[in-house]
Amino acid sequence: MTPAEIRARLAGLQSEDLPVHGGRTLAYVYDAGLPEVDALAREAVAAFAGSNGLDPTAFPSLLTMENELVGVAANLLDGPDSVVGTLTSGGTESCLLAVQAARDGRPDLARASLVVPDTVHAAFHKAAHYFGMEIRVVPTGPDHRADPAAMDAACDASTVLVVVSAPSYAHGVIDPVTEVAGAAAARGIRCHVDACIGGWVLPFKSRLGRPVTPWTFAVDGVTSISADLHKYGYAPKGASLLLHRTPALRRSQFFAHADWPGYTMLNATLQSTRSGGPVAGAWTTVRAIGTDGYLALTEAALEATDQIAAGIGDIDGLDLVATPESTLIAMTAGPGLDVFTVADEMTARGWFVQPQLSHAEQPPSLHLSVSAATLAGVEEFLEALETAVAQARAAGPVPVDADVVALLHSLDPRTLSEEEFDALLAAGGLAGDGEAPGLPEQMAPVNALLDAAPPALREAVLVAFLDRLSRPVRPIGAVGPGQRLQ
Ligand SMILES: *Cc1c(COP(=O)(O)O)cnc(C)c1O
Repeated sequence: MTPAEIRARLAGLQSEDLPVHGGRTLAYVYDAGLPEVDALAREAVAAFAGSNGLDPTAFPSLLTMENELVGVAANLLDGPDSVVGTLTSGGTESCLLAVQAARDGRPDLARASLVVPDTVHAAFHKAAHYFGMEIRVVPTGPDHRADPAAMDAACDASTVLVVVSAPSYAHGVIDPVTEVAGAAAARGIRCHVDACIGGWVLPFKSRLGRPVTPWTFAVDGVTSISADLHKYGYAPKGASLLLHRTPALRRSQFFAHADWPGYTMLNATLQSTRSGGPVAGAWTTVRAIGTDGYLALTEAALEATDQIAAGIGDIDGLDLVATPESTLIAMTAGPGLDVFTVADEMTARGWFVQPQLSHAEQPPSLHLSVSAATLAGVEEFLEALETAVAQARAAGPVPVDADVVALLHSLDPRTLSEEEFDALLAAGGLAGDGEAPGLPEQMAPVNALLDAAPPALREAVLVAFLDRLSRPVRPIGAVGPGQRLQ
């Protein structure tokens, strides 16, 4: 393909995606609304895309940028002089490493456990799954916050880590970090604060003079904190920070291997080759925005959140799940109103809001991660939401066949055959046509079907769906094995 053809193809492919600018995509992307900063950061990503953080002696630029970013975070997060940190590829990697470091800090335990509230991010379940650990999930109270006494009671001699969130992704509330971390410290257990989404908002919120539940290294017993630069740091994707209170706590996170014939392998993260692109992109963004910039962006995002929260309160049929403590909003719908249809109606109006399935006793909800760039569009958003609610009410709930629901509850996801998955995907409108499974036009029927299934079956169906989406697109007429290039 020629460069012009490639550019055209890339633009065409990208036109199918959600917009990353404009503040109308209220999950997955975070928009500062600062095009000059974005342009500068993309320049930096491009300039360092080929550099490799694998070896800090070969690419000292990346080490310098990483150490400066950790330094900025250490100040923001009230770190003592002993604080150290690592730049990772994202929130999940930061959370995985916090768990792995805790596990490998106790090599004497045959099977270590971690204790988490039921609102903890899925990354911790992934960590337990990957690292062969027991995860003890403790129900949160009616306020959706971790229950310190119940978490303490769930700890025993095998527990190496307790986790709290600042704030939780699903509900946007901050756990009682002081109580949980204090109890963990009394037992000699590490406490990780997952501030992936709040880590670059809450420090500025408190500097703006708004009250924030204590959650940083200023709280005794907090041993590590994760904070994503590619969320409210507004950096290009691929950058998060994991900070530990002391180098000793971080030591077990590092991996070295010298007993092979190749290069000396020394890794701080799950990755070995690490692109310099996200490092330079994050460093550039943080430097270009600066403290005053983040204060202004945080004020704008919080103002937008307050206005949206107030507007939701005024719309008949919608309820806030909790009073927002940062820039996250969760809302539920009353009787006769289907949140999944509301989400689709919002998509049709150019706003992406994120469906969250029902869980335990809680109904399904809609999640909003509000960016600074959303402030300018709040009025338009609330008008769209009001219309979407009216349309969804008129459409009524998405019918899910009672027989299908009965079937869903009778299935054992561990023993389902590929044919049964195909039938399920078809019932959910996820089969697509012919060879390639399609991405559905309307998500509400899919979400309604998933919502009717127990979590283990949801997981199995989602994995089967991803399996069918992820299939190679093989070029036609390429040179095959044994053929000669003409
Ligand atoms: C986003 C998020 C994560 C995971 O981060 P990724 O960058 O998506 O891997 C973990 N915890 C919380 C609270 C989050 O909001």
